[in-house]
Amino acid sequence: MHYQRQYKATRVDPCSITGCDRTTFTKAMCVLHYNRMREHGDPLYERPRKHERRERRSVPVTYTTLHKRIRAQRGPATDHLCVDCGAQALEWSYSFNEERPLISAERGREGKPYSLDVQAYEARCKACHKAFDMFITGNLR
Ligand SMILES: [Zn+2]
Ligand SMILES: [Zn+2]
Repeated sequence: MHYQRQYKATRVDPCSITGCDRTTFTKAMCVLHYNRMREHGDPLYERPRKHERRERRSVPVTYTTLHKRIRAQRGPATDHLCVDCGAQALEWSYSFNEERPLISAERGREGKPYSLDVQAYEARCKACHKAFDMFITGNLR
């Protein structure tokens, strides 16, 4: 529960990146810019989109297919530690590092945002995954 409180406590100032009006996630940046900073060393990094578009137009990769792909490439989430609390992870959690994630239309998974990028997921325990998703959903429009 204290994670939720922690997330909420950071939602006071706007992101320090010019032109971005999302609320701060950490280090004076919103979650999108923070993730870009962490992954690419540059909060303004733009992922090349060509490859993604091509993939999106062909056979749709569903939420389930993608999660199978993550397992195949990175192993089960339970082989990892939760990125938030260090306990054994249980689920692969989408890190919301893209401006426009795909939205699942798959039966039983409707409305779930996801990415085709296997590296866009982090291992989390169930509690942290839920708290993280709730925080993000409230933070992104
Ligand atoms: Zn931002
Ligand atoms: Zn955790």
